[in-house]
Amino acid sequence: MTSTTANRVPPCSLLTEVFHHPFLEEDASPANAEQRRLHHTLTTRATEVCMSCPHFDDCLETAISGHDIAGFVAGTTSRQRTRIRNLLHVEVKPDDMDALVGILSSGRQIATHDVVRLRRAHPDEPLDFIAQSLGCSLSTVKRHLRRARAQACEPTPLIPRGPSRGQLITAFESVTRMRRAAPAARAA
Ligand code: SF4
Repeated sequence: MTSTTANRVPPCSLLTEVFHHPFLEEDASPANAEQRRLHHTLTTRATEVCMSCPHFDDCLETAISGHDIAGFVAGTTSRQRTRIRNLLHVEVKPDDMDALVGILSSGRQIATHDVVRLRRAHPDEPLDFIAQSLGCSLSTVKRHLRRARAQACEPTPLIPRGPSRGQLITAFESVTRMRRAAPAARAA
C-alpha cells in the first residue's frame, strides 16, 4: 500500500478491535465497573482517531444527513447524532437493512456508509478492492452503491437542503462538547 493510499484509508477500517467492539458498534451498555472502564477506553481511543481523521467532515455529513447508521462514527454515538439532527431539524430514513444487509467475515453486518466511505477513499480502485477490504461479496458492494445512488437521486428529499458544514460542526461541538480544530490546524 503506498503512503498516498494509506492516507486515504479511513483509520477506523484499520482499527476494527476498537470500532467494531459491541460497546461502540452496537451502543451496548456496560454492566459493571470493569466494562465501564473498557467502554471509556474504547470511546476515548475512537474519539482521538476520528478527531484527527482526514475524512472527518465528509464522514460527519454522511452520518448526520445521509444515513441513519449505527455505531461510533465521526466522533459521535448514534444517540449524539440523533441530538445533532434534532438541533438541525434534519430527518433521515433508516437504512433498510433487510434489503441491504451483507455479512462481513467477522459476522458483522455492513451498512451502506461502510461501502460509500471506502468508495470515496479509493475512487480509483476497482470495486473488488472494496469487497476485499470489507470481506464481503462484489454483489453486496454493488447493491449498497445502487442504494446510495438511489437515495441521492430521490426527487423529494425530506429536507430541501442539508445543513452546511459550518452548521454541522457547530452542532457537533454543542452536543459532544468537543472543539473541532480548524482545517489548517488539522493538516499541520
Ligand atoms: S471520522 Fe469517520 S472515517 Fe474517520 S475514523 Fe472516524 S468514523 Fe472512520
